[in-house]
Amino acid sequence: VQAVFRSNLSHLLELMGSGKESLIFMKKRAKRLTAQWAVAAQRLSQKLGAVQRDQKQILVHIGFLTEESGDVFSPRVLKGGPLGEMVQWADILAALYVLGHGLRITVSLKELQSNLGVPPGRGNCPLTVPLPFDLVYTDYHGLQQMKQHMGLSFKKYRCRIRVIDTFGTEPAYNHEEYATLHGYRTNWGYWNLNPKQFMTMFPHTPDNSFMGFVSEELNETEKQLVRGGKASNMAVVYGKEASIWKVSGKEKFLGILNKYMEIHGTVYYESQRPPEVPAFVKNHGLLPQPEFQQLLRKAKLFIGFGFPYEGPAPLEAIANGCVFLQSRFSPPHSSLNHEFFRGKPTSREVFSQHPYAENFIGKPHVWTVDYNNSDEFEAAIKAIMKTQVDPYLPYEYTCEGMLERIHAYIQHQDFCAAPGPAPPGTRALQSPFVLAPNATHLEWAQNASVAPGAWPPAHSLRAWLAAAGRACTDACLDHGLICEPSFFPFLNSQDAFQKLQVPCDSTESEMNHLYPAFAQPGRECFLQKEPLLFSCAGSSTKYHRLCPCRDFRKGQVALCRDCL
Ligand code: UDP
Repeated sequence: VQAVFRSNLSHLLELMGSGKESLIFMKKRAKRLTAQWAVAAQRLSQKLGAVQRDQKQILVHIGFLTEESGDVFSPRVLKGGPLGEMVQWADILAALYVLGHGLRITVSLKELQSNLGVPPGRGNCPLTVPLPFDLVYTDYHGLQQMKQHMGLSFKKYRCRIRVIDTFGTEPAYNHEEYATLHGYRTNWGYWNLNPKQFMTMFPHTPDNSFMGFVSEELNETEKQLVRGGKASNMAVVYGKEASIWKVSGKEKFLGILNKYMEIHGTVYYESQRPPEVPAFVKNHGLLPQPEFQQLLRKAKLFIGFGFPYEGPAPLEAIANGCVFLQSRFSPPHSSLNHEFFRGKPTSREVFSQHPYAENFIGKPHVWTVDYNNSDEFEAAIKAIMKTQVDPYLPYEYTCEGMLERIHAYIQHQDFCAAPGPAPPGTRALQSPFVLAPNATHLEWAQNASVAPGAWPPAHSLRAWLAAAGRACTDACLDHGLICEPSFFPFLNSQDAFQKLQVPCDSTESEMNHLYPAFAQPGRECFLQKEPLLFSCAGSSTKYHRLCPCRDFRKGQVALCRDCL
């Protein structure tokens, strides 16, 4: 059956069920965004032309909303609790539905079991029950529940699962044996999935797939209105919970801000003003999403105090014409030094409250400064008040961008297929690439055959030997490219080192998430023995890593130029 784009979301709203505050929030959002989804579907349909799209049967099991995993979020929807996850799930559901796929949505264990065709209490039954879905989107909680209740079917069908994982899961933490042996064991990792099956909220390491969410886009008339209606001295503080106001050094930087601007907040409170919020702040209380957006349309500045990390709100602020001001973290926050990231299966270092805003958007929309340096902070406020910025939303966070990306994933990502064409090992393979004319990197040879169906297409590969201590994520960015882990198998050969003129005295094949790599002392070359450990993330001063990079579409970093 062919998938047909849908523009009416009323059936989706029925599928989403009711009762929980979280579902009500998600349904309101999907409903409000219907018109934007419809326009996006129309544009994408034109762009894709006559491309064949099969209709997939998809199960969406939102594990964190099940009573069985505690459902800590639903009761906090109206009390300033985190909403980012619900924003993302609402948008995933809308996107899958608009793309025309068959959907089932479950938010309890009972519903999950009946949809999986597993009789209750028969989780460990030795038979594999056929899975009636082509794809399953879930989260870590849901993954655990499926493992418990699917018996042997879990192993057989886990390649069909996609895990929505806000922070990402790096390969070193995903590989059970390796994580256990090398201290990468956490509460979440060690599922031995293909790392691309984990889908993140922002494009972190390209080892995972970037799922994202959407932010509402202004039309021209709204943009005009926003331009005319800005109060140049109005600031809104990022964060719905009073606890974010407990930040150290607050008196100093808030004092400076208060000299220039009227400060507004949307902090949840029960009966009286939260004591953490100073009296000079105009607190509106937690606002419904549309009213929050209206407030942003009037404001000049959206200011972060360092927490929450990487939510949707700064993108919404920038899309509504605000400048986002945030603090630089020095030293960077990570799972090693910050409670919030502790136990998360990633070694990522976070250099500011919202790294995506800093690195993918930047000035004039985003200013990242040291809040402990009063001069720097004050200069930024003054400069921001003088600059004129237009509403801006990166393409990947528009409805069309998200539809395009999910379409491409559904069309091309297949983790059930047999492993790629170039098995790892020390054996010299017929190499498909050549040294580039300037001798700095490898390129795909023009006459080399391309593995049919390989995605992204291998001819976009460019490979570099990174500087010692540099991760492949960063090494590729240094060249204006993005690391592409699915290209590692092509590079994992003696021949690649040879073509790059790396002076290997010896070559070993071992399990190490930093391999393939070259170690200068001893002039040793190392190949990767375990395909699950190919990793863009990770670095050590001991190694020059061999890094596969590719190009990407402007505003859509998940897709290479020929990836649609
Ligand atoms: N939001 C809201 N009312 C408010 C403030 C924020 O509905 O008063 C919404 C906002 O539109 C955003 C969502 O809360 O989409 C999540 O925002 P945030 O970036 O704070 O992420 P979180 O920490 O909640 O995951």
